[in-house]
Amino acid sequence: MATAGKVIKCRAAVAWEPNAPLVIEEIEVGPPQEGEIRIKIVASSLCHTEIYHLFEGKDKRGFPTVLGHEGAGVVESVGPGVTDFKPGDKVIPVSVAQCGECRFCKSPKTNVCDRNWINYHVDLMSYPTTRFTCRGRPILQFTNTGTFSEYIVINRIYVVKIHDDAPLDRVCLLGCGISTGYGAAVNTAGVTPGSVCAVFGLGAVGLAAVMGCKNAGASRIFAVDINEQKFEKAKVFGATDFLNPKAYNKPISEVLAELTNGGVDFSLECVGNTEVSRMYLLSCIKGWGVSVLVGYTDVDFSARPIQLISGKTWKGTLLGGFKIKDSLPKLVNDYMTGKIMLDEFITHKMDLEQINDAVNLMKTGQCIRCILNISK
Ligand code: NAD
Ligand code: ZN
Ligand code: ZN
Repeated sequence: MATAGKVIKCRAAVAWEPNAPLVIEEIEVGPPQEGEIRIKIVASSLCHTEIYHLFEGKDKRGFPTVLGHEGAGVVESVGPGVTDFKPGDKVIPVSVAQCGECRFCKSPKTNVCDRNWINYHVDLMSYPTTRFTCRGRPILQFTNTGTFSEYIVINRIYVVKIHDDAPLDRVCLLGCGISTGYGAAVNTAGVTPGSVCAVFGLGAVGLAAVMGCKNAGASRIFAVDINEQKFEKAKVFGATDFLNPKAYNKPISEVLAELTNGGVDFSLECVGNTEVSRMYLLSCIKGWGVSVLVGYTDVDFSARPIQLISGKTWKGTLLGGFKIKDSLPKLVNDYMTGKIMLDEFITHKMDLEQINDAVNLMKTGQCIRCILNISK
């Protein structure tokens, strides 16, 4: 590779500050250091967590940054000590690490690797160090990825090698939202055959949770959203019942309790709203109900102890509990063999230059997933 070992100048969408449009800039991407990989990003999608960081989060220190964490691409070069990747490999860079060596990676109970940035820098939403610079300033890599750039540098513990024939403009979705929702149902909740489930929030994450409930054999899947335009898609992924909380003059937990003889077996919150988080816990049945929190916010939430004392379990999930190196290549194969859907999540396709249109569509609930062509 003619570029190996050199600084690469390329296009990226820079978020200079919160609540402002992203700016297409020429940035410099340094060569990979010990253990790192430089990747040419081919395609990237937009997840609600970008909207959260730009507009909703309370902590505003994580700027300037390059957003994007649902990308896929091709290895351009590798740094010293990297023997398991080579230029030309198709890869998905992920915001979640699997170092394979820490006690968390060695335990089958969790995918929360001890080396993950999220354990130490969640308020910044990235490592404080970066290989990106623009106009003489360091630019952060959002959630350690920053896939709205033609090139990124990332440690090998965050990178997954995938099938040579995988279509990068679809499997990029597995880098976050779809794996998260799907795994929330099949791993974290552990949805069982014949069970009754409720999914709150029908963005890509919630729809993937619906798909997980269906694949796990749930007999009834309630799809709950305040935007009724999402119901048609939810049907595609296997939802059987549709509820708009705004259409009732009582809490949706009471509506669900009446419809299900006391509450659902599994409820999954895929919104990112603490009032909804409380509501989905209330919606699951006493004795054995399991509630999984997926939506991300930095606002505290509360619940009455009796909710847990009565036998409910309240859990959270990071990337659906998937250990990336063990599971993402399998999910790519599951897509290629038709076991899971990906195409059905894609409602828009755009070029990187149209990034602000994509942000607006996501912010206003008009798209499920928009795929951006990053490299021409
Ligand atoms: P999205 O914006 O596409 O979808 C959210 C949905 O929630 C929308 O359809 C919206 O209409 C609906 N909604 C809003 N208020 C509601 C309410 N009161 N009741 C019911 N539905 C309501 O977002 P997404 O990309 O699907 O992401 C969903 C959440 O998951 C976000 O909070 C995101 O940050 C989080 N997330 C978490 C992880 C993780 O690892 N835990 C990973 C990815 C995303
Ligand atoms: Zn680890
Ligand atoms: Zn995400």
